[in-house]
Amino acid sequence: MEKRVWSAGALNHLVECRFQFLAIRLWKAAEKEAPQRGLSWREEGERIHEILCRFFHEYRRGRWTFADEERALARLEQLADEVLRDEERERDPFYLMIDKFRIKQKLLSIWKHEKEWRRKTGFYAAPAHLELSFGLPVCKEDVETGRLDPASRPEPVTLVLGGKRKVRLQGKMDRIDRDEEGYYAIYDYKTGTVPTIEQIGQGRSLQLPLYLWVYQQGFGQDPALAIGSAYYVKGNGGNAAANQRNKGLWRKEETGRVGLNPRKSLDPDDWRKTEENIQRLIDQSLSKAEQGDFAVSPTWDCPRFCPARHICRVDAWILSKKRGTR
Ligand code: SF4
Repeated sequence: MEKRVWSAGALNHLVECRFQFLAIRLWKAAEKEAPQRGLSWREEGERIHEILCRFFHEYRRGRWTFADEERALARLEQLADEVLRDEERERDPFYLMIDKFRIKQKLLSIWKHEKEWRRKTGFYAAPAHLELSFGLPVCKEDVETGRLDPASRPEPVTLVLGGKRKVRLQGKMDRIDRDEEGYYAIYDYKTGTVPTIEQIGQGRSLQLPLYLWVYQQGFGQDPALAIGSAYYVKGNGGNAAANQRNKGLWRKEETGRVGLNPRKSLDPDDWRKTEENIQRLIDQSLSKAEQGDFAVSPTWDCPRFCPARHICRVDAWILSKKRGTR
């Protein structure tokens, strides 16, 4: 297991249910996505990531500013058209028209939120990193066109968790904002459902803490300067300044720096305990896998759409638990 290069998703599968990891990641027995007439959720997410990455890369280059909102919004829409143009050859035009409309609505919602929190904080620095990858090939053309961060590195990052457990990791961080004092926040754009703050704190969604540690241990950032690591969601039309980045791990004393006052942020003691608990959970799951234990034994409730459900016989497992034969 020490030699394996993990993605956050694979580690998540292992921690969630070792059988799920075995079935999906080792046997490759996941149910295939049904063919789509429009974009799948995964494809939609990928296109939104690309549009936002290129949009903020242009902000970094001074191509638009928050002072000229009309021009910025027009450029965002133009980028969406450019990115989605390639789909026109292969998709049902009717479905694609609906997909385009939905994607633009999500982008507009993110844009509104972005304007509002920046106005509130007076923080107008461009993101420090966009699509910062590690352990994945670094394509020169992608770097030049702003699709990949120049600080990306092809070798995986080796994390040391709990002072002893080594985990090699690959992945890509969507966006990292950093203020002039060096305080940083890591964001993962999500256009679908995201876990609750409680679930994130329990370790049910490892990407946020893992990417925080990757940035610290693999890219030399001071843990004391972390503000947090969170999902950046499309929002639900509520309080735009507050509700689109609060789902994550936030350090209570620093959230004002990013214009947030999340309902649940962590004081220093809770922050330390949360990190320790998540690291322990990863270590325990890896130890069991090293012993060949890939039992059907979900750590929490089974996810609603588990791609290995068709083969795991979880219902038999639940029954045996009820009968006390397990
Ligand atoms: S449905 Fe539950 S028990 Fe079955 S593989 Fe998925 S997480 Fe594991």
